[in-house]
Amino acid sequence: SLTIGIVGLPNVGKSTLFNALTKNDVLAANYPFATIEPNVGVVGVPDPRLDKLAEIFGSQKILPATVDFVDIAGIVRGASEGEGLGNKFLANIRESDAICQVIRAFKDENVVHVDGKVSPKNDIETINTELILADLQTIEKVLPRLQRESRIKKEVVGQVKAIEEAQAILETGETLFSAGIVQGTEKAEPLRELHLLTTKPFLYVFNVDEEELTDDIFKDEQRALVAPAEAIFLNAKLESDLAELDDDEALELLQSVGQEEPGLATLAHVGFRTLGLQTYLTAGPKESRAWTIKKGATAPEAAGVIHTDFQKGFIKAEVISFADLVETGSVADARAAGKARMEGKEYVMQDGDVVEFRFNV
Ligand code: GDP
Repeated sequence: SLTIGIVGLPNVGKSTLFNALTKNDVLAANYPFATIEPNVGVVGVPDPRLDKLAEIFGSQKILPATVDFVDIAGIVRGASEGEGLGNKFLANIRESDAICQVIRAFKDENVVHVDGKVSPKNDIETINTELILADLQTIEKVLPRLQRESRIKKEVVGQVKAIEEAQAILETGETLFSAGIVQGTEKAEPLRELHLLTTKPFLYVFNVDEEELTDDIFKDEQRALVAPAEAIFLNAKLESDLAELDDDEALELLQSVGQEEPGLATLAHVGFRTLGLQTYLTAGPKESRAWTIKKGATAPEAAGVIHTDFQKGFIKAEVISFADLVETGSVADARAAGKARMEGKEYVMQDGDVVEFRFNV
């Protein structure tokens, strides 16, 4: 599955946030015998549609989609110089599908900032610099050879041009993501085999004091710093407290600081979106469940997420949109109203499709 690597300078609240994430680990709750890596937190993406489905189908269980967060501990500054720990840090980022930087915005004299002052802008630059330097090194390693090859092999010319353009962007201190060259899209295709770090989608968690949670001017300033990446504002200590409360108590605490949902829930939603994912839904008396697919996935690909045999033996998918199902009230009524569609192999899944697959075994 796709993972989001959590990075940040020391003392910004990464561990506090990560502990809150693992307290919410849905894997631990739903699959008690699953092996859980100590540095991975599997967080459920809250989805009220599942509650509604569970009501319609009388499901015993609700299984939300999940996002995997990986705690990438280790050194940040000097990582691109490539000694021991720095290499490991960069390798861990390379394995992630998106990068989530935790930034300190809380003020607390008792917690030392590594650079002596709280400055989101500087912290972002520090991390970006290491990632950019690492990408420039990767490029410098392969470019001379490819440039030579391109004189004989016409098919390499385009790739060389794309790499040279990437190099020029990185040399200005900008990440490729911020320049619109994003892993998984066509623009990043010629760069794919280089596994450049800064083509990964970024998102930012601002660890703020409680007052700032409702300070829209402050939040807009921070958003401007990180655009086009998304920004999430939370208080890591508060999230950690929330994770230990029951639903009613948690809601009360949230309301007392002017919030509607826990920051971790927002983080899960934004993380999911940043990874380019969407869900489709299945429901029955046993469980109502959200399954994760890439945007643009076809019906057989979606079936394959449940089981590879479903994809191999795919015949059809019976699809009812969530809205139609709620409106008609049951599968039988949706069918009678002509709202159940039989879709074939070419069908591109839509967010919120409620699906039953027909397949050969
Ligand atoms: P890490 O080094 O990035 O993993 O940071 P930690 O999670 O270990 O946090 C560093 C210190 O900051 C610890 O003493 C935390 O208790 C404290 N801390 C973390 N989040 C907050 C916060 O939101 N507000 C305040 N005041 N302190 C925090």
